[in-house]
Amino acid sequence: MNKRLTSEEKTAILATERERLARYKAMGLKLDMSRGKPCSEQLDLSMGLFDQITSNTEIKGVQDYRNYGITDGIPELKRIFQELINVDENELIVAGNSSLNLMYDTLQRAMQFGVCGGEPFNKQGKIKWLCPVPGYDRHFSVTEVFGIEMINVPINPEGVDMDEVERLVKDDDTIKGMWCVPKYSNPQGIVYSENTVKRLAALKPKAKDFRIYWDDAYMVHTLTDEGDTLTDILAEAKKLGNEDIVYMFGSTSKITFAGAGVAFIAGSAKNISEIKARMFIQTIGPNKINQLAHALFLKDTKNIAALMRAHKDILKPKFDAVIEILEEELSGLASWINPRGGYFISCELPSGTAAKTVALAKDAGVIFTPAGSTYPYKKDPSDSNLRIAPTLPPIDELKTAMRVFCAAAKIAYLEKELT
Ligand code: PMP
Repeated sequence: MNKRLTSEEKTAILATERERLARYKAMGLKLDMSRGKPCSEQLDLSMGLFDQITSNTEIKGVQDYRNYGITDGIPELKRIFQELINVDENELIVAGNSSLNLMYDTLQRAMQFGVCGGEPFNKQGKIKWLCPVPGYDRHFSVTEVFGIEMINVPINPEGVDMDEVERLVKDDDTIKGMWCVPKYSNPQGIVYSENTVKRLAALKPKAKDFRIYWDDAYMVHTLTDEGDTLTDILAEAKKLGNEDIVYMFGSTSKITFAGAGVAFIAGSAKNISEIKARMFIQTIGPNKINQLAHALFLKDTKNIAALMRAHKDILKPKFDAVIEILEEELSGLASWINPRGGYFISCELPSGTAAKTVALAKDAGVIFTPAGSTYPYKKDPSDSNLRIAPTLPPIDELKTAMRVFCAAAKIAYLEKELT
């Protein structure tokens, strides 16, 4: 839809789109496009996990995995992750089912105990955090709940705006960390460039207890045959003797089962040994039975890549359908990035129309992620970014939901223009 229309033309389109949305509403739709969850066909790909351990399986590696112990994860699974993310055994902890949980705990520990001998964040007065935007709502909720002041930093096609990051951390020792989703970022699907990663690896913040929270949630979640390579931040940081700058996180939530997978934290030996010591107080060890099932099922990085290709085959047509409908209906009005991986399509609507679009779609029976969710404090300064999550619904429902989205976006824009 072209923005350069006469007001008569706009009025006519508004009437047509209102009628169209009313027709969708009359269908009694109940569609939920709000969260990036895998669909059941994707989950079916990992049913083999259940076959890995039976009452006849020898549940024994370095010890009997039915018993307590091994804070940092079983070696069979650690070896697979070590290869996947290129870290040593002492640079990795494989833990429970959720990387978000690990990120929360890591920040909680920093608040309460400090980072590598530094004063607890709780005792340092007001502290701040860099938040690349648009970003992952749950990251922002974590920093918000700890009362940390969040600073928006724009994301560009190369990743986070490094001039801004370097400028901000240089002189302000109240800035203690930053969120990053470096590969197929949530929601834009951007892969941080080599230059961006190298600059992050070389970052010298004024605060010695500053850490990058490198959430590699979508490290193997490609939508193309060839995939993308993310520059190895830890390896780059090591070259400069700056390896303590980063904590890396990830999980198999969207490789095997969401909520029943395995998650990890990785980083310098110094960072990891500090975390391990605290974890040792917190837990007598992770669920090693699930870890063993994952080790036996995932086998190696080659096999993980094959599994992810099967995910891609299910997801690609869904992403294509969304892009096709956006192109057909919203070209000239909105913009979006066609992602090469990840779980989302990020759509920039005309300023001041995102919240209205979501409200109109909801009224017609389709739930989208609330406007503002992709920004700290749920405040999108231009009320324009919306996150579309194409993975969960069957393709026909997805197409219907996207038609509703487009009708709602046009109505929101035209109503704003015409009043
Ligand atoms: N990080 C990002 C960027 C995510 O998009 C998600 C899931 N939506 C998570 C973390 C959650 O991961 P987990 O299931 O391992 O807690």
